[in-house]
Parts: sequence; C-alpha cells; structure tokens
Amino acid sequence: MIEERFDAIVVGAGMAGNAAALTMAKHGMKVLQLERGEYPGSKNVQGAILYADMMEKLVPEFREEAPLERHLIEQRFWMMDDRSHVGMHFRSEDFNEERPNRYTIIRAQFDKWFSSKVREAGATVLCETTVTELVRDDRGRVIGVRTDRRDGEIHADVVVLAEGVNGLLGTRAGLRDRPAPDSVALAVKEMHFLPRETIEARFNLKGDEGVVIEAAGTISRGMTGMGFIYANKECISLGIGCLVTDFQRTGQTPYGLLDQFKRHPSVSPLIAGSEVKEYSAHLIPEGGYKSIPQLYGEGWVVVGDAAQLNNAIHREGSNLAMTSGRIAAEAISLVKARGEPMNATNLSIYKKRLDDSFVIKDLKKYKDLPPLMHTHSQNFFLTYPQLISKAMQNFVRIDGTPKAEKEKATLQSFVKARSWTGLLGDVYRFARAWR
Ligand SMILES: Cc1cc2nc3c(=O)[nH]c(=O)nc-3n(C[C@H](O)[C@H](O)[C@H](O)COP(=O)(O)OP(=O)(O)OC[C@H]3O[C@@H](n4cnc5c(N)ncnc54)[C@H](O)[C@@H]3O)c2cc1C
Repeated sequence: MIEERFDAIVVGAGMAGNAAALTMAKHGMKVLQLERGEYPGSKNVQGAILYADMMEKLVPEFREEAPLERHLIEQRFWMMDDRSHVGMHFRSEDFNEERPNRYTIIRAQFDKWFSSKVREAGATVLCETTVTELVRDDRGRVIGVRTDRRDGEIHADVVVLAEGVNGLLGTRAGLRDRPAPDSVALAVKEMHFLPRETIEARFNLKGDEGVVIEAAGTISRGMTGMGFIYANKECISLGIGCLVTDFQRTGQTPYGLLDQFKRHPSVSPLIAGSEVKEYSAHLIPEGGYKSIPQLYGEGWVVVGDAAQLNNAIHREGSNLAMTSGRIAAEAISLVKARGEPMNATNLSIYKKRLDDSFVIKDLKKYKDLPPLMHTHSQNFFLTYPQLISKAMQNFVRIDGTPKAEKEKATLQSFVKARSWTGLLGDVYRFARAWR
C-alpha cells in the first residue's frame, strides 16, 4: 500500500475527471488522478464539439491556450433517405464573435492540454494506471482504490468516479447496474484527412470557421441512432451510432452502417479523395434521466458518462461531464472546508446542486424521449424520413401536375403508411415527450 494519503482520488482523465481534479486542486485539495491510458485522451473518442461556456468556467483563458480546431458558425440537420436528404441549416455571422460558443476539437490533443492544466493546478496525475477496485472499511465506506500497480492500494477521503460510460468499477462495487443495452449506443468514427483549402471549399468556410452536420433517417436502417460530420482544420470527423440493443436485434454491424453512410450521395462528395487515418468505436450513454444511477454515497461520487449524464437529443455529453465534474468537486471542497466527513449526507450537496443545473433540468425535460424513440424507431428513423423525402421531391419537381393533386398524393402517402390514428398518435406522443 502507498502510505501517502490524499484528500481525493479521481478515477479517469476525461472531461469529467479533469474538471473535477482541476476544481479540487484549485481549492487547495491534495488530489490524485489515475488514468488507465498511456496519456489523457489516448482512450477518448468524441466527434467532437466543445461547448465554450462550460470550459470557460474551468479554464477562462482556454481560447488562447487550448488546441482548438474550428469555431462553429453553421449547424446542419439532415433527414435522409437512401438517395436524398431534407435539410435545415442555421448559419450566422453572429457566431464569428470574439468569444465563440462552440468549437470542434480532437480529443486526443485537447485532453492532453486539459490535463496539463490539472497538473499546473497542483494535482498529481498518474497515467497507465488502472483502478481495479474500490477499497472499503469495515463499515462499507469507500476509503480508497486498488490499482494494477505493485503496492497499488491508495487511500483518500473521497473517490470521484469519472471512469466513463462502461463504469466497470462502479458496477463491480455494486454502486450502479451495468448499462442496459437499450440505454447505450455504440458509435464508430473515422477521421478523414484532406487539405485545409479543400475542406473550406466543400463546406463553404473561411479561416477557422466550422460546420457540423447531424444526420438521421434511413442511414440507421430503422434503428435508434444518428450520424455526424464535423469539419476540423485538416480533417473531417465522421461517424454513426445506434443503440446496442438494436444492433443485437437486427444483426446490423456498426462498420456496415458507417460504410453505407459514407457512400450516401450527400456524404461521399464531402470526403472524396480523403485519407482515413483513424478508426475508433465507443459507447455513448443514451438512456437519459431514467437511467441515472445513485450519484453519491459514503466516500464516493460519480460524474460524467459514468453517471449516464448525456443528452442524446441535443448530442451533448462533454459539457454535462465537465459540469458534473465541477459541481461534484465544488461540493467536495465545501465539505472539506467545513472540516466535515465525506459521508453520504454531506456529499448529497452534489446532487442538490446538479438538480438545480441545466444538466438535470435538461435530462428531466426529455425523460420520455429516449424510450419513445426506441419503441417507435421504425417510424421515426425509417418510415417518416422516406415519406418526408418523397413529399419534398413531389413539392419541388415541376411536372405539370396541379399542386392540389400533389398535396393530395402526399397526404395519402402519409395516411397509407401510418393511418390517421397512427399519425395523430405519433404527433401526440412526440409533443408530449418533447415538452
Ligand atoms: C463518437 C462520439 C462522439 C461524441 N461527440 C460528442 C460531441 O460532439 N460533443 C459532446 O459534448 N459529447 C460528445 N460525445 C460524448 C462525450 O465524448 C462524452 O460525454 C464525454 O467524453 C464524457 O466524459 P467522461 O470524462 O465522463 O468520460 P470519458 O471521456 O470516457 O473519460 C473516462 C476516462 O476514464 C478512464 N478510465 C476508465 N476506467 C478506468 C479505470 N478503471 N482506471 C483508470 N482510468 C479509467 C478512461 O481511459 C477515460 O480516459 C461523443 C461520444 C462519442 C463516443
């Protein structure tokens, strides 16, 4: 056992772990952060969009220092069938602001930089160290961790579990259930390298302007899932993910979907001639509010993806991770400053503050959407995209058919596919889940 004792041990050096370790170190706590990867970021897969507001609360000067790719001036939403897409774009010069709101980043580079700030703040960061289990005292309180290093038991007043979506440690310790296959998506991602000017020409960008495309529809073959395309400086991140349970049910494969997505006529010209240098796969927690486990206990708290804090509807994860890490760390620092024990009663401040934040408010708002999307995935991800695409084609194609006849044909196609009760039911269920 290592004799040295810490105020806090943070397991994981992703967004949540870094936010927690940095905040506690800034509060003068003695922090040890353990990361199984060769370096922070080496195990992390993300599209990736960074949300500036949450980052600014942790490192106000990050815009000048961090490895950022492009600031986003445009967001595209595509509803796709096999040959077309119906799009909604929002592009604004307002996003060319002094302090941009969102950036694309490459996690392997960004996490390394973020970790350097954690070290600067005074935390000890140990990589290539896997935490294998939590150590408890005879009353069941968590008092430290055991690692895969020799003499690898280390004690602390509190352990912050920021181990990501798999949450093996928390599951093994009986603090949470294993994520159910219908509450996690499996996403695959590729990085397509192209000259900077080519990316800017293809996406209509100049300088460091960026664009993201979120895509849904028949690309997921009726499964609950989405694709994404993010423009970086000299590469394009492109990926797709669907619920694990849907892959199990349909026998579809993630790389099969990715291949089809890349070959789609709306996508292939964007990546034509690119060199693929990276391929990765990762889980994303998508169960929403109803899948959040117990967030604190005797000597421990759980943050980020490990706590299932991910807003699949808005494709936000890293900001919830950073915010939960920061709030947990502030709560711990407060308990420490008061000289009180890190027991469940005192650590419950974390949950109270998280409940008051956008993290839980947003997840609560959408609590019924993930199950609705899943149970009606054939309609939302197959039938409607096909119908909407046909309706748009009918609308824009000029072929001498009177407009009234076109509208009637479109309406009939919807009623034929879903029936009046089906259509009204879908609208009602969706509106109820969205409110
Ligand atoms: C393909 C994809 C695209 C995404 N796109 C976006 C996006 O554009 N914007 C966004 O906001 N979010 C996005 N997300 C979600 C986002 O990546 C996560 O929400 C975020 O990374 C969660 O941070 P975290 O710190 O909780 O977990 P992670 O970033 O997964 O970090 C967990 C860390 O813990 C380490 N670890 C695990 N177990 C142990 C152990 N036993 N001992 C030591 N270390 C351990 C891991 O190596 C890892 O470094 C995306 C996710 C994926 C998969």
